[in-house]
Amino acid sequence: MPPENREHRGLNPLLAALISLALFVFLTVLGWRVISDEFIRRAIVPGASASLEEMLLSAVLVGGIVIAFLVSLVVYLLLASRRRGERYAERLTHDLAASRQEFRQLYEHSPVPYLLLDSDGTISQPNYAALHLLGYASEELTGKNFFTLLTAEDDPPAQAGAVSPEEVKERFMRSVAVTHEDVRVVTKVGAKRWALLSIFQIGGGRRARRGLATLVDVTEQKEIDRAKTEFVSIASHQLKTPLSTTNWYVELLRNSATGTLNEKQRDYIEKINVWNHRMVELVEMLLNVSRIEMGTLQAVRESVVPNALIRSVLDELAPQTTEKKIVVTYDPATAVEAFQSDPRLLRIAIQNLVSNAVKYTPKGGSVQITVDSSGDTIQVIVADSGYGIPPEAQDKIFTKMFRADNARKIDTKGTGLGLYLSKSFIEALGGTMSFTSVLGEGSVFTITLPRR
Ligand code: ADP
Repeated sequence: MPPENREHRGLNPLLAALISLALFVFLTVLGWRVISDEFIRRAIVPGASASLEEMLLSAVLVGGIVIAFLVSLVVYLLLASRRRGERYAERLTHDLAASRQEFRQLYEHSPVPYLLLDSDGTISQPNYAALHLLGYASEELTGKNFFTLLTAEDDPPAQAGAVSPEEVKERFMRSVAVTHEDVRVVTKVGAKRWALLSIFQIGGGRRARRGLATLVDVTEQKEIDRAKTEFVSIASHQLKTPLSTTNWYVELLRNSATGTLNEKQRDYIEKINVWNHRMVELVEMLLNVSRIEMGTLQAVRESVVPNALIRSVLDELAPQTTEKKIVVTYDPATAVEAFQSDPRLLRIAIQNLVSNAVKYTPKGGSVQITVDSSGDTIQVIVADSGYGIPPEAQDKIFTKMFRADNARKIDTKGTGLGLYLSKSFIEALGGTMSFTSVLGEGSVFTITLPRR
């Protein structure tokens, strides 16, 4: 009900002011009557003239009435401002109740599923969208433990990247933020759906810790993504066969198996060979991206000799370094002993870092490679004196297909897949990849790997 329509209790300010005015006027008149008594007149002003007495009496009367008005005005103002204050407080209370109600409705009818979790993950107040997603009635879901609704099972096998229920629970218990994590939720009928989970901590401090969980159903997007990844995987596999065949015939022609070629023909064959290799590399990259996204990338561990691996990368990149007159420094004396890793994945990652260093360094610049071993870890550091990475691009540099603006201008053919793949490979080997870069001065990329 709006506050204006409410019955107002308490004294009406105008009425109170009129009462006080009447009272004071009455008292003034009474006073005047008493003063005008002859006895008092003589006693107060002995020997005073009649006109002076009359003036005094008039002053008492006028002064008394003025005071009566002033007092009534003050009474009126005080009571009126108190009433305004009460009305204001009432309006605030009403607005608060209305906004609570509005908030409740928004919460309940929001298209985003919401669940309140208490300190051990027990569900309360699921909204309609949450009930719809999970297929439960409100009273069935209330009181259930939220983490029992999550599963690690991936059926049918989908993309990698779902966070395990244990990890989500552990993070919630430690009050660590859970933001936009891919999870699998199990509905009442046992169907598994993909959802983006965030848990916002509410309360805390002296009050019991609680969480607001939001689940966004992304099953359809995941299915489309999987179909896309499968398509890329199948297409890349299919492309490998014609490319190998082309490669085979190019090799035959290069080795003059079908007769001697003239200079022009040899030149053309070399060009076909270079572009064929580029295609093979691209197809291999696409295959690796699909392997990472489908979670089928597998590291095969064997003995890796870092020195030999880096030498072979440098030999492969020699034509580019020579052409750009880049001074490459790699001191094999610093090389460390063999360790257990996947040489195939590690080579691709190191090859990518060194070829980027060469690509994004101007002619006559320098590239330095260092291999370091300390304790249980091995570090491969690739530093260059190149163009550097703009500060605003640095947090996206490992994102799939991201290329900084300066790199796009320097080299138009890049794919933005190299660092994404390299970082994923190193992580599959249990390591980490990081970098520092100063625009216009150069970049330093570091791979850190466990020894076994
Ligand atoms: P590509 O080199 O094909 O663009 P990458 O994934 O290998 O793809 O690299 C992604 C982006 O990271 C590059 O486009 C470039 O902006 C930046 N980058 C990588 N390495 C370097 C480097 N050594 N110096 C400057 N920028 C680099």
